[in-house]
Amino acid sequence: MERWLRLLVLYTNIFSIYSVDNDLFDTQNKTNQRVNIHELINSLDVRNLYQDEPPTKEETFDFIVVGSGSAGAVVANRLSENPNWNVLLLEVGDVATPFTEIPVISAVFQYTKLDWGYTAEREEGYCWGCPNRRMHWPRGRALGGTTALNYMIHVRGNPLDYDRWEAMGNPGWGYKDVLPYFKKLEDAHIKVYPMLVHPKSYGYLRLKSKNPFQWPLFYPRYFTDPGNDDIKTFIAAIREIQRINRQPAFQRFRSELYTKPIPGCEQHAFNSDAYWECALRTITPTLHHQVATCKMGPSGDPEAVVDNRLKVHGIRRLRVVDTSIIPLPISAHVNIPAVMVGEKASDIIKEDWTMRP
Ligand SMILES: Cc1cc2nc3c(=O)[nH]c(=O)nc-3n(C[C@H](O)[C@H](O)[C@H](O)COP(=O)(O)OP(=O)(O)OC[C@H]3O[C@@H](n4cnc5c(N)ncnc54)[C@H](O)[C@@H]3O)c2cc1C
Repeated sequence: MERWLRLLVLYTNIFSIYSVDNDLFDTQNKTNQRVNIHELINSLDVRNLYQDEPPTKEETFDFIVVGSGSAGAVVANRLSENPNWNVLLLEVGDVATPFTEIPVISAVFQYTKLDWGYTAEREEGYCWGCPNRRMHWPRGRALGGTTALNYMIHVRGNPLDYDRWEAMGNPGWGYKDVLPYFKKLEDAHIKVYPMLVHPKSYGYLRLKSKNPFQWPLFYPRYFTDPGNDDIKTFIAAIREIQRINRQPAFQRFRSELYTKPIPGCEQHAFNSDAYWECALRTITPTLHHQVATCKMGPSGDPEAVVDNRLKVHGIRRLRVVDTSIIPLPISAHVNIPAVMVGEKASDIIKEDWTMRP
């Protein structure tokens, strides 16, 4: 049987993917970018990329993969390598414009139809400078998922991250186990810059209702750890950057601290710890590496949703394969780990199916 992968783009007119220009951008926020990007998009003949017919009632599938994101796209691809399996990949979003592959302009695609457009709930203690004090929560809604929005920073993480996963009761997820998957997909450069990678504050999601079409409520709870250690760690990072900035290599370029106070923080002495705490709580930068909402762990762990084979505890024939299974924040950006999860999950599924009676 011929190898094939059926792709069904739901809810969208697949023949006019790039022609719905008027709602591509939130006009309030992105008017300037809209004109140029649209001109570029319209100059390309990229329609009709996917013309598969929707499956008929009679067709059956061995696997249905929901979501073609960093992990899901890999799973669909790897499972479709078996010529005897029919794989259906369901994706609610569109084909992303090729311009999403230019990292320097990726932020432009937030607030567009390539983004689910979530907003976190209003909470105290952070995002004082956000509109209505609510944080935008970008998440890709496209073929490729959040890779349509991300900055393409490629980081593997620290071996200890994965050894911790294993120590939490997840055999097969130690560094020695996941390393071959990283090696399989690595050919990129690595960029590093200071981030709070192991925050002590943690947030949660809550379902609004039983209706699956209603978006969940997001409670990030940034900077809420009782000892205020997250803020202190961030300020230590700022001091370290200032130290690096004073070195001759940077001074050759006359690099200097930007001294205009952050609006809302003028009451604090500039460059004091109190000033930087106010700045962090006002701007609250994040790189959107949320994990662990469907945490992987043994059945005895009350927070665990899936086991180490990524099967949902207590439910048959359902697995979760994406960043939500990552049990702890890692010392890295999470896209490459998500791809690794997709690769490893594909091997797990193939193994389980090959061993079926
Ligand atoms: C703005 C931004 C920048 C980032 N930059 C980086 C970076 O530079 N480097 C890095 O390593 N990480 C980065 N990340 C994080 C990383 O890109 C994501 O964590 C990762 O892509 C998530 O992969 P995933 O497989 O878990 O889910 P996603 O890639 O989000 O895929 C989920 C897919 O499922 C689809 N879907 C959801 N519900 C349904 C449904 N009901 N039916 C059908 N389809 C559905 C969605 O449309 C989406 O396509 C960034 C994240 C953001 C938001």
